[in-house]
Amino acid sequence: MGYNYNVILAERAQIRKDRQLYFISKERDHTMKVLVINAGSSSLKYQLMDPQTQEVLAKGLCERIGIDGRLTHKVPATNGKYEFEIPMPTHAEAIQAVLDALTNAEHGVIKSMSEIDAVGHRVVHGGEKFASSVLIDDDVMAAIEECIPLAPLHNPANITGIKACQKVMPGVPMVAVFDTAFHQTMPARAFIYAIPYEYYEENHVRRYGFHGTSHLYVSRRAAAILGKPIEELKIVTCHLGNGSSVCAIDGGKSIETSMGFTPLDGLPMGTRCGSIDVSIIEYLMETHHLTIEEVMNILNKKSGVLGVSGVSSDFRDIESAAAEGNKRAQLALDMFCYKTTKRIASASAAMGGIDAVVFTAGVGENSPELREQIVANLGFMGIKIDPEKNKTRGEEKDISAADARVHTLLIPTNEELVIAQDTAAIVGK
Ligand code: AMP
Repeated sequence: MGYNYNVILAERAQIRKDRQLYFISKERDHTMKVLVINAGSSSLKYQLMDPQTQEVLAKGLCERIGIDGRLTHKVPATNGKYEFEIPMPTHAEAIQAVLDALTNAEHGVIKSMSEIDAVGHRVVHGGEKFASSVLIDDDVMAAIEECIPLAPLHNPANITGIKACQKVMPGVPMVAVFDTAFHQTMPARAFIYAIPYEYYEENHVRRYGFHGTSHLYVSRRAAAILGKPIEELKIVTCHLGNGSSVCAIDGGKSIETSMGFTPLDGLPMGTRCGSIDVSIIEYLMETHHLTIEEVMNILNKKSGVLGVSGVSSDFRDIESAAAEGNKRAQLALDMFCYKTTKRIASASAAMGGIDAVVFTAGVGENSPELREQIVANLGFMGIKIDPEKNKTRGEEKDISAADARVHTLLIPTNEELVIAQDTAAIVGK
């Protein structure tokens, strides 16, 4: 029996690349400090962390950028929480306020900005150009700008965050980590929409998938918890939060996910409709004399469990209302669970099997009731949870029943850690 050396070499190269990207080199003689930035249009989240020890030195949030400006700064080691009103006409002032807070004599955690080795930026859309994280240079910035039409709400804010950092921290290496990158391994049969092919070729209309950093993180943790190489596992990860998506991860690679061209596709979410019959758009425009912008606003901001329940987009409010007998709130929960159940089964079918299902994000980590309802109909696939083990929130835990054939795991997500580790690996090269 002959060996295919090209395949072996390719596999080895992939393993080396994975190691480089997700583990910090043991030869490093000093610890790194990476600032992780997640910039939105009027807000900016940050974490300063040591990617090797995984210690979060400080984290916080700038809000109301362009309006007035508010900074909440937390120092986990001392349980310190500090709030400031600081004028933030642009993201540059917000970044400066973050650096001032990090280096402040009283509540700071570093002596000077020079202690920050690198900055990792969350970027929502990398299109087909980026299948992994990259060091930001002029060409990368141009490519991220080219993706603006694919994510008109998110990418401009991410770009603003990068430019603000470059202005305030000249010379500090910066890395872009894309929400879409992990899903670039999806085969064409999974990412192609059944519309004329030229819309894919000319306009890049295809499924991209999102929450990639979260799906990647929890799938790798799942393999570690199960003590098996990820290459041997078929995992369905359920990122259930305000935005929700399910991903089929075969051998460590995303091969199918529920979000599509935009994060509007797939599961119903807090305010987003998820997959619907597109004819509804035309019908609503005609019957209610609405513009396309108005209908899209309804589908993005007024639908999902908010639209069905009429109560709230927050699952806690909906669960409370349902417990008090609100029928529409119960319907919203039933719909959400039913559609998630079906997605788990279809993700398993895409892989031809399943070894583990993982719950993560706000709802997945915190709602035992919804986890139980979601898997209730999956016994036929060997998925069964132990109701006692399931009575937990926010901790890594195997909640499978003793006679389950498939592991059900609860794994809190940590997108910031992936961003920090990718950044350290790329900058440390
Ligand atoms: P995320 O987008 O991951 O931050 O998730 C946010 C959502 O998680 C919130 O809108 C809540 O609906 C949900 N969530 C947080 N805590 C709980 C909880 N204890 N029970 C049910 N849902 C929760």
